[in-house]
Amino acid sequence: MRTLDSTTSLRIAVQKSGRLTDKTLTLLEGIGLKFDDYKRSLLVKCLNFDVELLLIRDDDIPEYVEDGVCDLGFVGANVVAEDEADVTIIRGLNYGVCRLSLAAPKEDKLKSAADFAGKRIATSYPGITKRYFDSKNINVDIVTLSGSVEIAPRLEIADAICDLVSTGGTLKANGLEEVINIFDSETQLVKTNKPLSPGKENLIERILQRIEGYQKAAKSKYILMNAPQEAVSKIKEILPSLKSPTVMPLADNGMVAIHAVVPLSTFWDVMEQLKAAGATGIVMLPIESMIA
Ligand code: ATP
Ligand code: ZN
Repeated sequence: MRTLDSTTSLRIAVQKSGRLTDKTLTLLEGIGLKFDDYKRSLLVKCLNFDVELLLIRDDDIPEYVEDGVCDLGFVGANVVAEDEADVTIIRGLNYGVCRLSLAAPKEDKLKSAADFAGKRIATSYPGITKRYFDSKNINVDIVTLSGSVEIAPRLEIADAICDLVSTGGTLKANGLEEVINIFDSETQLVKTNKPLSPGKENLIERILQRIEGYQKAAKSKYILMNAPQEAVSKIKEILPSLKSPTVMPLADNGMVAIHAVVPLSTFWDVMEQLKAAGATGIVMLPIESMIA
């Protein structure tokens, strides 16, 4: 049993080398954490926070966080769910987005979960797959493989597969058809349920606030434009900004500068409407972080 300990650094588990590695490190650097060269060591000290990164295989992350070896971890929801790890999921992070899907050779034309009854299903996710079929009272024969699941039907080791899909390209290239998505996944930030020192809790709180700001910023753009004074009320209607836009008079008579934050999802629509309303010199800037 680990005791409350304020002498050790907050330890964060990150995938050592894989699909989540670069995006996780970019996120950590984006919220202001600086690290030494993380390519060379498994345990990397943060230069400006009492934090260290443990770089390990993604499959090991839930267990390390559950055991309290690491206090936080960045890992796919698929891995957390597969392990049924006793950790707290703090938030989803909108990257590493994929789904766990049942797929079968195209020519077999499987359509529903019931069509998989009695079939051999190859997967690296036996837990999630079994729970899915158990919940539907369908019997299947699960063949656990650690990789290259998509070739199992061609090798006649299995009739169908249950594997991670993002674009579906790998399935297609192997003559397989996606039949049912059984689990939506993205990277999650998970926290240990072991007791932590107040110092570590405080550090986690600060990191979370920064991640929230970073994520909000990634979904928004800052726009600047000039417009005739009489167009301001129309422009205010168009801008779905978080707060009301900033309007400043310009030296030119009757002209103003308008600044606002715009959600990325509506950015281009808004752009066109602003132009139509009389805005000129529209400039769009990325936002690094948005606090509060
Ligand atoms: P490790 O060596 O760390 O065990 P791995 O080969 O198991 O690596 P990766 O292929 O790097 O893992 O995938 C890591 C995570 O990326 C997956 O668990 C999943 O959450 C996510 N992911 C996103 N898209 C895909 C995809 N198309 N295929 C596989 N994983 C994906
Ligand atoms: Zn893995």
